[in-house]
Amino acid sequence: MLLAALTALSAQPARRRVSLVVTGGTVITQNGAHTILSPGALAIDATDIVEVGTPDAIAAKYQALETIDARGQVVLPGLVNTHTHAPMVMYRGLADDLALMDWLQKYIFPAEARTVSPELVRVGTRLAALEMIESGTTAYADMYYFEEEIARATVEAGLRGVLGETIIQFPVADAKTPADALARAERFIEEFRDNGLVVPAVAPHALYTNDKATLVASAALGRKYGVPVIIHFAETEDEVRIAREQYQMTPTAYLDSIGVLGPATIGAHGVWVNDADIAILKARGVGVAHNPESNMKLASGAAPVTKYLTAGVKLGLGTDGAASNNDLDMFEAMRQASLLAKHAMHDPTAVPAQTALDMATIGGARVLGMDRVIGSLEAGKRADLITVSMASARQTPMYDPVSHLVYVTRGDDVRTTIVNGKILMKDRRVRTLNRATVIADANRLAAGVRAAVGR
Ligand SMILES: [Zn+2]
Repeated sequence: MLLAALTALSAQPARRRVSLVVTGGTVITQNGAHTILSPGALAIDATDIVEVGTPDAIAAKYQALETIDARGQVVLPGLVNTHTHAPMVMYRGLADDLALMDWLQKYIFPAEARTVSPELVRVGTRLAALEMIESGTTAYADMYYFEEEIARATVEAGLRGVLGETIIQFPVADAKTPADALARAERFIEEFRDNGLVVPAVAPHALYTNDKATLVASAALGRKYGVPVIIHFAETEDEVRIAREQYQMTPTAYLDSIGVLGPATIGAHGVWVNDADIAILKARGVGVAHNPESNMKLASGAAPVTKYLTAGVKLGLGTDGAASNNDLDMFEAMRQASLLAKHAMHDPTAVPAQTALDMATIGGARVLGMDRVIGSLEAGKRADLITVSMASARQTPMYDPVSHLVYVTRGDDVRTTIVNGKILMKDRRVRTLNRATVIADANRLAAGVRAAVGR
């Protein structure tokens, strides 16, 4: 009798123990074949996706410590925000309805001069992280001051970040000169270069806020450590005029002529580029962060998204800072990227839903130089994924989940956010941040911002 029982047990193949299984949802893998499993499941162990398959196949092979029932939901790679300034959530709604140069020079730079501090950056990043986790962003690229505070808050929140210390010509809160800023950036890179969640970067603000020597030194620092260089470029017609007057070149051609552009460059905006510029960006392997909402709000223009895609330029989506958006919701960024391209080109076939989703996931991962580890749900990649409820009136009926993700879904529809195999939010309860404390701290500091800028 005992022998029979033992024989029966050994006849069943042993199931592998894994940390987490997500099962029952419609799994949009975003792999090369755009495979969708409906229903599907994922086995995750520690930081990595072990296998993607049908719920039955995953249940037969794996025994999970924790299981997430994703029935009625869509499971997809976490969204990748390729351009933001996280602590600028603290300036959300402070100055609206202005052109970029006015907005920057009359409002944002003065407000920052009076209020940026390690505490504001720390509290602002926690607020941004809360918003990102709640709206399904799992990785983001950042450019700001006191970037080490941003890095610590990012790790504490459990998010993945490519984080760039800002280099700018005029005195700012964390550096009195560009040389100070470069030294600070180097210390920052040294401190975080081996971090599992943070990739440190150097972030020269733009060609119109840095002289040639500073831009060249920033690019050299990036090359020395093999880290990304984040820069705003070709954002407005003003910038094109400045580059033409000072250098007799387009912004793109100028940055290329001084050696700033390369495969580790993350260029934000790229609105005002001609065909020759696009060829340069492709040849150098530059990743472009398209920010449709910020570009519309500041009336900067419409980036030639279709031309970028046709040319094979790496293209991702960003929200830009919350002061020019005014939120960090990447679902809205997808929707606006699609609508803006259609509107600007008078072509309803421009940037279809699948293309917008690609830009927000695997495309963004390419821009950050991380497409081998994130951006799609495939065995061996890090487990960065989200589940999205499709149960609301607004989402009923659902014929095509990709259409719904781009044209209907809002950040608030995200139920679960997982980064590096760790559950950051489950059933909309964020586990890594104390929501009430984060919001109370932000409101407390906002009173100081209000007083400093006389609002
Ligand atoms: Zn920006």
